Amino acid sequence: MNLPISLEFFPPKTPEGAAKLRIARQSLYELKPEFCSVTYGAGGSTQEGTFGTVSEILAEGVDAAAHFSCVGATHDKVRQELAQLKAMGVKRLVALRGDLPSGYGMGGEFHYASDLVAFIRAETGNDFRIEVACYPEIHPQARSAEADLQAYAIKVRAGADSAITQYFYNADAYFRFVEEADRLGLHVPVVPGVMPITNSSQLMRFSDACGAEIPRWIRLRLQGFGDDSASIKSFGLDVVTALCEQLQAGGAPGIHFYTMNQAAATVEICKRLGW
Ligand code: FAD
Repeated sequence: MNLPISLEFFPPKTPEGAAKLRIARQSLYELKPEFCSVTYGAGGSTQEGTFGTVSEILAEGVDAAAHFSCVGATHDKVRQELAQLKAMGVKRLVALRGDLPSGYGMGGEFHYASDLVAFIRAETGNDFRIEVACYPEIHPQARSAEADLQAYAIKVRAGADSAITQYFYNADAYFRFVEEADRLGLHVPVVPGVMPITNSSQLMRFSDACGAEIPRWIRLRLQGFGDDSASIKSFGLDVVTALCEQLQAGGAPGIHFYTMNQAAATVEICKRLGW
């Protein structure tokens, strides 16, 4: 049975990047995604690119979600951007705190993603479906695992409709998180975020920054392949396909693919899964 999938992109920085992404999207649309989401740079730094890419996806007849981060933002700015998104026909948001580059402090009128979720609900009612982020392997700045779970509970109770996880390669962490959220009476769907493995150094860099753990056996295998990108890709497809199988068997409500604007790995994984 096919699981519903969603696909994440980042706004391309150059016209060539935008052209490549358009081609990648056409292959990925064969997978019939429920929606495609577009990330939003810290402090609104990619606002134009995010909104532009979201508009293109909507014009291609596919549902699109705009990621929206609030750190450093004012109520007025958020109000104005929500009106703009609504006018564009956007019906889905991924509401985030976001990260400012170090040295920027944490100024602004929003402190946590839960403040943004509450603000969106207060200002726009049910105009948007709101997704939030969650962290089966614990957010790197959380005081403790329990504090992070409570922070997630606050976001859900503020009005989130569903959650997308940070990526992970340890399915047990996901199942445990879902169980704990359930125990707190948080019954919104928790969709696992899955990062295909195509480039080992990029994966190590991202994972260090966002607190996703690369299990030792995966890290050592990847290191062992050195610059042999064909072996990295082939191993990555095996590992990530097996992870998706495990997630489906354990009852995950869907899969959100972090595509990194590339089609091949996500398409191949779904093909192997028979989706
Ligand atoms: P929050 O939920 O606000 O949590 C941030 C930290 O504060 C956590 O440690 C939490 O435990 C703690 N916390 C939360 N509420 C409270 C409270 N009331 N009291 C005390 N502590 C609290 N980043 C981008 O810049 N752009 C993107 O487009 C983007 N998309 C993402 C999509 C997904 C699916 C995921 C998983 C992450 C994404 N990120 C993105 C990264 C995200 O912005 C960072 O992980 C950021 O550090 C936290 O954002 P958040 O919305 O989870 O924050």
